[in-house]
Amino acid sequence: MESTDPTAPHHETPTLGNPDLPPEGEGNTLADPQSTAMTGPRNPVIESQFPSQLHAPGTDISTQPMFWSSFNISPRRVQAGGWARELTRQDFHISEEIAGVNMYLQAGGIRELHWHQTAEWAVMTRGKCRVTTLSRDGRPSVEDVEEGDLWFFPAGTPHSLQGLGPDGAEFVLAFDDGDQSESNTLLLTDWFAHTPPDVLAKNFGVVQEAFADIPLHNLWIFPGDEPGDLAQDQADAGVEWGAAEPIIFRLSRSQPLHENSGGSIRIADSTNFPLSNTVAAALVTVEPGSMRELHWHPNADEWQYYLRGSARMTVFDTGPHANTTDFRPGDVGVVRKNLGHYVENTGDDVLQFLEVFRTDRYEEVSLANWLAHVPPSLVAAHLNIDEATLATFPRAAQGITPLR
Ligand code: MN
Ligand code: MN
Repeated sequence: MESTDPTAPHHETPTLGNPDLPPEGEGNTLADPQSTAMTGPRNPVIESQFPSQLHAPGTDISTQPMFWSSFNISPRRVQAGGWARELTRQDFHISEEIAGVNMYLQAGGIRELHWHQTAEWAVMTRGKCRVTTLSRDGRPSVEDVEEGDLWFFPAGTPHSLQGLGPDGAEFVLAFDDGDQSESNTLLLTDWFAHTPPDVLAKNFGVVQEAFADIPLHNLWIFPGDEPGDLAQDQADAGVEWGAAEPIIFRLSRSQPLHENSGGSIRIADSTNFPLSNTVAAALVTVEPGSMRELHWHPNADEWQYYLRGSARMTVFDTGPHANTTDFRPGDVGVVRKNLGHYVENTGDDVLQFLEVFRTDRYEEVSLANWLAHVPPSLVAAHLNIDEATLATFPRAAQGITPLR
């Protein structure tokens, strides 16, 4: 399947789906081959990552706002203890509902005690992390999370994160507001440094001198000793077993919504993770050659994070507009609410990505499920496909369409 020329078209020139009106697409330039010449400066490394941009399928039409971005092109803010890089709406224009952060904490590395005006959803991608919070009704949590686990902090929930051994923690955060930046949070050290010492003394019932050595600049991320035994930390924080609503969810161990030979879809939303009432998510695994089926989401934009493998996605909008882009690990995609899309595994390895939505409930409409529940004669009248063939279409949402 792999072509020797990485910029070569992904598919042969199609005989189907290559409309001549309007006269758009490489397939319509065969009589005039000079049309596709590229005579200006080029960057073959970047071009090789985007075969579907350079040689769009014949069915693509017009253009729409860029729905691809990537943590791979995002500047890393590094301090002793770890780093973070982010994609806010300022970096990625159409990402209005979700801002994303990719963060690493070395073993012992601390993301300092803080809170923010937006909710924080996260998925662990590597290693282990200790998470502390205090719920709105004053109940503490201290939990350890590992790859495939989620956490959710409602807006205003105070929290901290600390990498555990041996390899620290890497994770991806999603804030439920595209304008929220990781560099725009309310930090414990900033508040102390910017409160009159006599007020601190009065508040905590100690002499002012107790605050003589507080840091005057915030810590954000800083190195620390690896925390000790979890049960001891829980006891020291006053955690009462079962008192606080769970702040974590073991997504990768949950029961799939869809599972077949082509892959699986696991969901976390307020139906199985009650605290997560402003963010819903799906963990999608697609085997080589298989595909996340044609569908849309009626209740929220989809923010995607690609964990492994390679994919291409076409987004279909009114107009019509249809554009296809390629995705690799670390990339981020956004599909606006109600726009049609599929995600195809274009590689030889398993594709895995997350779909994150600013909503309390995961919702999707499957094209196959819709057409299976319309009188076949009506579908036939639209598509000029005979009813016997329509009868072989899937009769329900599959989630993933297996390679046949
Ligand atoms: Mn936070
Ligand atoms: Mn989707």
